[in-house]
Amino acid sequence: MTPLDATRRRELRLALARSYPWIDDPDVGPQAVEAGECDRCGAEARLVTTCGPTSWAALGRRCAAAVGLGGWCDGHADAAARWLTSLRALPDEADTVARLWWVATGEVRMDDTAITPLVASALPDGEAIRFPPPR
Ligand SMILES: [Zn+2]
Ligand SMILES: [Zn+2]
Repeated sequence: MTPLDATRRRELRLALARSYPWIDDPDVGPQAVEAGECDRCGAEARLVTTCGPTSWAALGRRCAAAVGLGGWCDGHADAAARWLTSLRALPDEADTVARLWWVATGEVRMDDTAITPLVASALPDGEAIRFPPPR
């Protein structure tokens, strides 16, 4: 296991922020939640925090859409409607982007060999970041 060093994590953060400006959204996206998988299905990246009468702390896109406003309390209904709209607008690769972001911030440790295919699918050719790193 060779986790990314600080320099390469910084490169990855910058590359992701350039390609995906929504990554800075404090309400919807990888910075809105604790890193991990959706509490409801366990198979998509968490992208929004929920508070409602349900027991889930954070949901991914598909589950948030399936649960709808029922995932939030009445006091957050207006905000939740906005968040659901934002979630629907995310690109297909948003889960991959979120997982890479958590690697870039150091919240999640992942081996180079696992990162490489994620970078290939989320970052367009020509990005300044090189994976795998030169040995
Ligand atoms: Zn889910
Ligand atoms: Zn609430």
